[in-house]
Amino acid sequence: MSRFFGVKKHKLLTLWTHSNYSIINEFMKQPSILIIYTGGTIGMVDDPETGVLAALNFEHILVQVPALKRFGYKINTISFEKPIDSSNVNPKIWIQLAQIIRDNHDKYDGFVILHGTDTMSYSASALSFMLENLHKPVIFTGSQLPIETIRTDGKENIITSIEIAAAKRNGKPVVPEVCIYFENQLYRGNRTRKYNAEHFDAFESPNYPPLAEIGIHIKYNFEAIHYPSQKKRINIKTNLDTNIGILKLFPGISKEFIFAVLSTKGLKAIVLETFGSGNAPTEKWFVSILKDALTKNIIILNITQCNAGTVELGRYETSAQLAEIGIIGGGDLTTEAAITKLMFLLGQQLTPTEIKKYLQISIAGEISLNRDY
Ligand code: ASP
Repeated sequence: MSRFFGVKKHKLLTLWTHSNYSIINEFMKQPSILIIYTGGTIGMVDDPETGVLAALNFEHILVQVPALKRFGYKINTISFEKPIDSSNVNPKIWIQLAQIIRDNHDKYDGFVILHGTDTMSYSASALSFMLENLHKPVIFTGSQLPIETIRTDGKENIITSIEIAAAKRNGKPVVPEVCIYFENQLYRGNRTRKYNAEHFDAFESPNYPPLAEIGIHIKYNFEAIHYPSQKKRINIKTNLDTNIGILKLFPGISKEFIFAVLSTKGLKAIVLETFGSGNAPTEKWFVSILKDALTKNIIILNITQCNAGTVELGRYETSAQLAEIGIIGGGDLTTEAAITKLMFLLGQQLTPTEIKKYLQISIAGEISLNRDY
């Protein structure tokens, strides 16, 4: 077991020990998968004393899923030394994950990241921006019930994620994207949100179709999957700027509150969660506070509070004024994609005009507008 970026590396299955050359050759054709275990419910156990769920280490997970050995794949694992609840995930963890994937990109056919469900959509969105020229599947999964629970959803989620991460068509990965696999659906990660804290189907992708639906067969939606056009080397972009915030409107929101949020020291951008197709109060004080923020070069990105659909600035009078003062329409971005896209763009050496341009086009398939990748 070796240390690796503060994480432990295990060799779960080694299929290279056969002496017969042809058998070795055969095995070499077998898919190779790297599982990265970060934590989350999937690896938690009820502490009998406190009644609180606490993280287990990865060996326990492997014991619970003996079927992994029957795949005949080369499966290696890396686990965080201290598995975490995903509420403790932050950009440092995303950078660690991006580095692990970059360093192992050419050694494996695909990657499966075991991650808590609570912030999985943020992590998948962030990595979709940070992993430039990704050519391999990166599948996030986890579970709603711990793996050692009899009714756990974790076993099926891990097994199918591995199968998807290894899938190839004409020698190429079927899904070379950052995805979330959960409860029979494979989604583009940056289109998802966790919408249910109770059901096994915890995720949805309200504005983009599933990349695959899983029943007796795995039915890939090839039209919806993005295939990189050029074979450039993977590159990771790890500069993220967290001087941002979310301002969710509600009827009766006070002037003082909005003013306080927009006066936050060092604030560079906010995601403004508006009503319907991007609408907001027309009151003078409201527009004037936003205008002041814009003159201080704070970027304001307008996304809808609705579960599905898109911002259409100018459709109503209540959004036309926002466009007029220079607020950017975020189309059908989810909150998770909007936040991580802002962190990512602000972290690059871009001019404000470039940031505004990239916010309105797709850089990793996150928005249903012009694609630019
Ligand atoms: N609190 C857990 C986490 O996000 C929930 C889960 O994994 O489902 O880490």
